Amino acid sequence: MAGRCGRPKGNWMNVTAKLERLFQVEKQARGLRGRLDSAERFLAEQTKELAALDAKKAALESQVKSLLAASGDAEGESKRLEARMTTIRGQMDQAQTTKQYQAFLVEMNTLKTDQGKAETAALEAMTKVEDVRKQLAEIEALRATRDQVRKVAVTERDARQAEIQTRLTELQAQRQTLAADVPADALSLLNTLLKNHGDDAMAPVQVEDRKRHEYTCGACQMSISIEAVSGLLSKGSLTRCGSCQCILYLDEAAQKALEPPEKRRERAGR
Ligand SMILES: [Zn+2]
Repeated sequence: MAGRCGRPKGNWMNVTAKLERLFQVEKQARGLRGRLDSAERFLAEQTKELAALDAKKAALESQVKSLLAASGDAEGESKRLEARMTTIRGQMDQAQTTKQYQAFLVEMNTLKTDQGKAETAALEAMTKVEDVRKQLAEIEALRATRDQVRKVAVTERDARQAEIQTRLTELQAQRQTLAADVPADALSLLNTLLKNHGDDAMAPVQVEDRKRHEYTCGACQMSISIEAVSGLLSKGSLTRCGSCQCILYLDEAAQKALEPPEKRRERAGR
């Protein structure tokens, strides 16, 4: 009981029409999930960036710690040498012989040199600490910005989730009802194609030139035989593209393009 408008309705629908109806619901659900997926991906990127900054921050902090320790050690060494020099100065005053005095003088010079080295080392370590602290401040600023972006990403993801949930549940219910009406083998074919080809599981026939019987697949653009198209037009037979294997259907544009000329005139007259 193909109605006057061409499209059969309800239980009288042919297998291709039933599949297409189900496919459109699937496509909507996939589109919604796709939007959630991109929000999830963006959030994951932000989390990763944040973790990288945290790792850098931790490395710099441990650098500061060991530089401070090195500076402290050098500082301590300098003090120890200073104390030793004070002792020697006292001993020099008490020196009994020139030889003794000379020996103290030599030690004093060595101590002075060593102390100078220790002070330089302490100073260098502190200069490096300042440097690393500057880098730390930069990383902390970057981290704060990234953390803000991540918070926005979480909000965005949650919003997307909430936004699609209601609609997704609706589509899920619709999908179940529609799937129950599709023959099992056709349904399993559609599911396989959806898994492997996504939105190209089904594609409309494109009427390139009706007079010359030039038809192509809406998914892969390869040509489709006139027999395949007439099978679809007359019985809505399950028809697959010979190239990409998708299930073909006639969308409104194709149905209009395939209308017999008298019907088109009739439409134009109305
Ligand atoms: Zn194809």
